[in-house]
Amino acid sequence: ASREAARTVLAALRVLTDTVDTHADELGRIDAVAGDGDHGIGMRRGSTGAYEAAVRAEALGAGAETLLHRAADAWADRAGGTSGALWGVILRAVGSALGDTERPTAAVVAAGVREASAGVMRLGKAEVGDKTMVDVLVPFAEALTAATDAGQPLPAAWGTAADAASEAAEATAGLLPRMGRARPHAEKSLGTPDAGAHSLALIVRAVHGVFAP
Ligand code: ADP
Ligand code: MG
Ligand code: MG
Repeated sequence: ASREAARTVLAALRVLTDTVDTHADELGRIDAVAGDGDHGIGMRRGSTGAYEAAVRAEALGAGAETLLHRAADAWADRAGGTSGALWGVILRAVGSALGDTERPTAAVVAAGVREASAGVMRLGKAEVGDKTMVDVLVPFAEALTAATDAGQPLPAAWGTAADAASEAAEATAGLLPRMGRARPHAEKSLGTPDAGAHSLALIVRAVHGVFAP
């Protein structure tokens, strides 16, 4: 197994969990505007469970794929809620793309993020514009792919894509929700970003620090 890739993934999950922890109250407040207010709690439970499962896998010598698959299952199990199942899909897809043995290239990481985006859309059936995390996941995957196709190394490409993610998350404030628990309270949600879109943008921004040279 590629120990270095596994350690990088573990570091990314650590940063992810810390970011969720720092912003948990804010995520709950945003989700409470038109949803049920549990996004911070769910993300905290899921990411903590995922990190703990990844630590155990890494200690046993697992590669990046196995580590992310264990983390994905733990996240979906522990979080409950819609976003828990979808974050399970994200981690699983990225893990499958990375594999256990090779050192992942920037192109492989971008392909994994595209698979994650497609997997979330397959499971959740949301499209761009429905005011969900898909509104961040799709432009993030597109920007990461464009930057890596243009030859940017992963740290620079990820930074460019994280900027696109932040912009896209802010833009969800102007959308009316068409999916998830916020749909029945659509008009209340206008002017507030989608909780899952916002958390995803915060996470990819924070994870950039792991790749920074
Ligand atoms: P729940 O809605 O079950 O309480 P959370 O509050 O943790 O779960 O997550 C809510 C977030 O999940 C939303 O802000 C949205 O980004 C995302 N979401 C909800 N439904 C879908 C869906 N069908 N497809 C993609 N994302 C979704
Ligand atoms: Mg909720
Ligand atoms: Mg809920």
